[in-house]
Amino acid sequence: MQCGALIDGISDTPQRDVTVVIQGGRIAAIEAGRRSPPGLPVIDLADHTCLPGLIDMHTHITERPEDTADLTVYFRRTAAEQAALARQFAAATLRAGFTTVRNLGAYNAWTDRALRDAINRGEVAGPRMQVVGYYLTIPGGGGDLLVPAVPEADIPADVRRGVARGPAEFRAKAQAAIDGGADLLKVIASGAVLAFGGVPGEPEMTPEEIAAVTAVAHAAGRKVAAHAHGARSIREAILAGADTIEHASLIDDEGIALAKAHGVALSMDVYNGDYIDSEGRRLGWPAEFLRKNAETTEAQRQGFTRAHAAGVAIVYGTDAGVYPHGLNARQFPIMVERGMTAMEAIKSATSVAARYMGWSDRVGEVTPGRYGDVIAVRGDPLADIRLLQTVDVVVKGGRVID
Ligand SMILES: [Zn+2]
Repeated sequence: MQCGALIDGISDTPQRDVTVVIQGGRIAAIEAGRRSPPGLPVIDLADHTCLPGLIDMHTHITERPEDTADLTVYFRRTAAEQAALARQFAAATLRAGFTTVRNLGAYNAWTDRALRDAINRGEVAGPRMQVVGYYLTIPGGGGDLLVPAVPEADIPADVRRGVARGPAEFRAKAQAAIDGGADLLKVIASGAVLAFGGVPGEPEMTPEEIAAVTAVAHAAGRKVAAHAHGARSIREAILAGADTIEHASLIDDEGIALAKAHGVALSMDVYNGDYIDSEGRRLGWPAEFLRKNAETTEAQRQGFTRAHAAGVAIVYGTDAGVYPHGLNARQFPIMVERGMTAMEAIKSATSVAARYMGWSDRVGEVTPGRYGDVIAVRGDPLADIRLLQTVDVVVKGGRVID
């Protein structure tokens, strides 16, 4: 790939006029000037900026945002229908330039694993994925599909696979997730915005329950992502050993200090409150969801600014699935408006994200040895971060994605 400019994911400034050589699916060399290595096809991107394939640390790639209006669809949809939707969303995500994602929860247990494995076998176009299999959550908690008005006996077991209470039960569910092929675990530490009952900030899992999960995960070399909105549950999740905090909407200064001291990264979905508000109204989402969303959006953006200023690592995570797959890059402008430089925002979706996934040796940089995952946009995204919303060229593992 002959790139007019290259943002490699780790350097602070772009390089001008370089050739990225990809061989055998991996980046083989970065050479100065526009070169045509013998035997390799050339992609002329002289008026483009090349970047590492983007990473979204928080998606729900098997889920459809419209279904938030009626979660009982997860009780009725067949596995084949679910798989077809997942494939469509995976393709949209990849085409948008997100070549790697962490899938932090699927209502129908293991639908994310099925997609990951199909992508890895080359049967389906989609991003590289880490999956959790199912949510670890308390009965009636933010990851539990206990829907009012549906008798508990009528709810299929596979949507409640990770529901537990007490450290011993959580330990067993965590181990079962790892044995089933989870790449990391996801705990719902506090109440969710898009769930019935509960308060978004209110702690759900106890510190002992979270610690039981992190002990099992870390013993197996896996990380734990904790969904936490409230200040107290954020602090508790960090102290219980979580590796990343998702949302972190109502984080306080003590939580920011703890995150920094413990090397915990935050993924803050600072765009999707806008989407939930406008589309949720249009699509008739439950009023309870819309109220909780309004209460958390601006507070989260202010917390983002304070956490970033304090030097806490922030990884790019959109909660895609709550808003449409393929629109993942809409979060970049909010991050820049709220205190990041464009380069910092790009790093949060490339090298910084890769580090917190444990995949620094694979993705997040355009440097020799990494997978040949490179995207290109026309113009300079450092001057206008919104350019990342229209990715012209996506290459994954050296293959151009149509
Ligand atoms: Zn989520």
